[in-house]
Amino acid sequence: MAFQNPDDPAWQPLVDAAWEARSRAHAPYSGFLVGAALRTTTGETVAGCNVENAAYPMCTCAERTAICAAVARGLKDGGLMALVVVTEADTLTPPCGACRQVMAEFAEDLPILLVNRSSRALHRLKTLLPEAFTGRNFLPPARAESPIQHDS
Ligand SMILES: [Zn+2]
Repeated sequence: MAFQNPDDPAWQPLVDAAWEARSRAHAPYSGFLVGAALRTTTGETVAGCNVENAAYPMCTCAERTAICAAVARGLKDGGLMALVVVTEADTLTPPCGACRQVMAEFAEDLPILLVNRSSRALHRLKTLLPEAFTGRNFLPPARAESPIQHDS
C-alpha cells in the first residue's frame, strides 16, 4: 500500500507538485513560503500554497488551499489519500490546528509527509489530531456516514 513510509516513491510526484506550488505562494508579509499537495482516492494530485493578506486573519495555509481546490474538483468525504507539506524551514513544518481539522473532514487517518531541503518525516492525522471533532459528533448515524449531501 502506497504512502506508508516516508521513502515510498509514491510520494515523489506530490513532493514535486508541492515545491512547484510553493514557488507561487503569496507570502509578502511573513516571507514564509509553504507548498502542499494531496492525492485523492480517484488518483488526482492537487496542489496549494499559502495565501496571505494585509488583513492577517484572512491568511490561508497551503494545506487548506489544496483541499479547497480539490473540493472544487470533486473531492468527497473520505476521498483524501495522502498529503505533503514543504517548506525551506530548518525544522519540518507540521500543519496548524485549523488545517488538521479541515483534513479530518475528508480523511479518517491521513498520512502526512513533512519535507524540507534536507529531511522528511511521515505523520498520521490520528496522531496529530486525536479524537477529532467530525460529523459523527452531532449528526444522526445515517447522515454521519455521508454528511455531504448533493442535489444530483
Ligand atoms: Zn494551516
